[in-house]
Amino acid sequence: MARYTGPVCKLCRRENTKLFLKGDKCMSEKCPMNDPKVKIPGPHGDRRRKLTEYGTQLREKQKTKRYYGVMERQFANYFEMATKVKGLTTGEALLQILERRLDNVVYRLGFANTRREARQMVNHGHITVNGKRVDIPSYQVSPGEVISIREKSRGSEHVKQILEKNAATMIPKWLELNRETLQGKVVALSERSDIDFDINETLIVELYSK
Ligand code: SF4
Repeated sequence: MARYTGPVCKLCRRENTKLFLKGDKCMSEKCPMNDPKVKIPGPHGDRRRKLTEYGTQLREKQKTKRYYGVMERQFANYFEMATKVKGLTTGEALLQILERRLDNVVYRLGFANTRREARQMVNHGHITVNGKRVDIPSYQVSPGEVISIREKSRGSEHVKQILEKNAATMIPKWLELNRETLQGKVVALSERSDIDFDINETLIVELYSK
């Protein structure tokens, strides 16, 4: 599956918001988005520029897509899936599908510093679901499933450092983490209120409904 491999801070500049793609650096003074003079890449780089209605909707979609590290086609597929979910608005269902991605869950459990790193951990076979190795970052987790770091991978210095650093990570209420056994359980599907990032999903629905 394709993925973006360019400079990630440029994505934040493009979306004119912090997307938190670099772990610690995002919370530090070094984050380029802390500089009020930073420009949006490209010829129309004024951060105060007023967007058209279409432009606003497009930027919301791009921002969300980049926050979760999903490419265009897959994001469109997720939207299609979301339109078929019963009992939720399409926008809420879309966000739930994005949250259910295995790489997102690995990140939310504090097994990785960023979603990008989580994706790499899944790709490299360090993650198990119900005791079986799953190396598909887009795998959709379900309630009752247990996500863990493979026994063999826990000894690696890098993994140990990540776990130590994220020992106090706040886990969303739809997940449970046993910090002793390093087993994370999906106890429910995420709700809209569980998403701690500023997303206006209605704009995305409007964009795809044109
Ligand atoms: Fe975005 Fe983080 Fe880079 Fe800041 S440091 S621009 S939040 S990726």
